[in-house]
Amino acid sequence: MGLSSRKNQQENLEDCLKEEDPFGLDEDLEIVIFRCLDCNTTDEVPEYIIGEFSVDLNKGEEVKLHCPKCNSTMIDARENPID
Ligand SMILES: [Zn+2]
Repeated sequence: MGLSSRKNQQENLEDCLKEEDPFGLDEDLEIVIFRCLDCNTTDEVPEYIIGEFSVDLNKGEEVKLHCPKCNSTMIDARENPID
């Protein structure tokens, strides 16, 4: 009984230590697929980049990127699936 609660404390401590990861090396990089409205080129964009772009947006506005191929607009493919 007492032994198992001590074990839980040990696990909590290990969880705390895991979170101390200033470089985020253990985190999986979230990738967002963007798709060009004109040529359907797709681009993989790290989510933190999207986050930086979305700072300048108004609420409800979507992040839009420029297509590297045709310089048209690329949008988040998750929210705008092809029908
Ligand atoms: Zn394009």
